[in-house]
Amino acid sequence: MSKACPAHTDPARFIRSLRFNNIKGAAETIRENNALGAVCARVCPTERYCESACTRAKIDHPINIGGLQRFITDIEQEMGMQILKAGKPTGQKVAIIGAGPAGLQAATTLRQYGVAVTIFEEHPKAGGYLTYGIPEYRLPQEIVDYEVKRIIDLGAEIRCNIKVGKDISFDQLKADYDAVLVTVGNSKAKTLPMFEHNICTESAISFLARVKNGELHENELPDHVLVIGGGDVAMDVATTLKKLGVSNVTDVAYEEFNEFKASKNELAGTRKAGVTLIDGYVPTKVATNVVTFKHRKLDAELTIKADKIIYAVGQTSDLTGLEIDLQHSESQLWSAKYQTKDAKVFAAGDLVDGDQTVVFAVQKGKEAAKVIMNTLGGVNHD
Ligand SMILES: Cc1cc2nc3c(=O)[nH]c(=O)nc-3n(C[C@H](O)[C@H](O)[C@H](O)COP(=O)(O)OP(=O)(O)OC[C@H]3O[C@@H](n4cnc5c(N)ncnc54)[C@H](O)[C@@H]3O)c2cc1C
Repeated sequence: MSKACPAHTDPARFIRSLRFNNIKGAAETIRENNALGAVCARVCPTERYCESACTRAKIDHPINIGGLQRFITDIEQEMGMQILKAGKPTGQKVAIIGAGPAGLQAATTLRQYGVAVTIFEEHPKAGGYLTYGIPEYRLPQEIVDYEVKRIIDLGAEIRCNIKVGKDISFDQLKADYDAVLVTVGNSKAKTLPMFEHNICTESAISFLARVKNGELHENELPDHVLVIGGGDVAMDVATTLKKLGVSNVTDVAYEEFNEFKASKNELAGTRKAGVTLIDGYVPTKVATNVVTFKHRKLDAELTIKADKIIYAVGQTSDLTGLEIDLQHSESQLWSAKYQTKDAKVFAAGDLVDGDQTVVFAVQKGKEAAKVIMNTLGGVNHD
């Protein structure tokens, strides 16, 4: 089952520890691979990963691995366990740009090796999309804050409200640190040209961030909102709108139901919240708040008038002020995978691998940290 987990956590091992009432052992199994184990217990698409590989699924249904991981990490938190320890100082220092899952995990791994780490984060709080994207009803902020505190307790410094490329230059970081890891994610919303400059529209990530920051005013919640998109982000927007009391929420997706990118749990939650879901339609025309769609395969047209339109059609990176060439170095060695053409600069997370998952970003952050150690002449990464 560990192969099915991008972070290589072995659920069979922590379940065995749990059977023998060894909670600390179970927590150790989770933490040795994942600094964000409590977060992943809540947001991992387990049906795609560990539960898909669970042999029990062939008998009746898979073990609720996410639920067990949550139970273990809850007790870990209640008992104030600090499982991971910082390594003996090496005298080396690494700057990380971006305090999302990839940057936080990389910081943890580097601290375990004894490297001094400073994370530069443009937002007032660490967490990336854990703090400014995934809604509170799925991931309480308290859980994210606790995971971040644990990483700070391990000795990582997190400097918030600093946008690299604006408040401090990229060259300055390169001069001050032995290596720079760029984990800035995909912080900019992709858009559809027809929705640009339309006063009735907003991107999903802007809307979700405003809800999480408490910046959404009640008078911004009209009777009918149209959401466009078929992924987890669209489901988060639609469900959030229902939870905020919007009476009529319609989600229209390009994908047909059997192709939806959203996880089964998210889709089920959205349906349960009372969102009207329409599949297989592409927007072709918009006149202020009236959108016309055409079916992808059938000769069918649909026109929807809404008070507000929120689009969730993906995210892309914003590298303003960061003059980095994301090409990997020419070397074919495994250790070169996270290294850019500039030997001192490394990159990982959604920025490199596209819209992925938290656990995937965790794994990439961990691997990048190991490659950095190797390049700095440190540790054997086997
Ligand atoms: C609404 C939403 C719901 C999601 N739901 C799930 C889910 O249920 N399960 C799941 O597994 N995944 C989910 N994801 C995906 C997951 O959150 C991402 O894959 C993950 O956060 C990527 O981690 P990252 O560290 O690469 O980037 P991010 O989380 O994007 O973090 C990047 C960080 O870099 C900072 N930054 C950017 N530029 C600069 C700069 N110049 N200077 C300083 N700091 C900078 C940003 O502020 C941000 O904090 C969701 C994503 C969204 C948007």
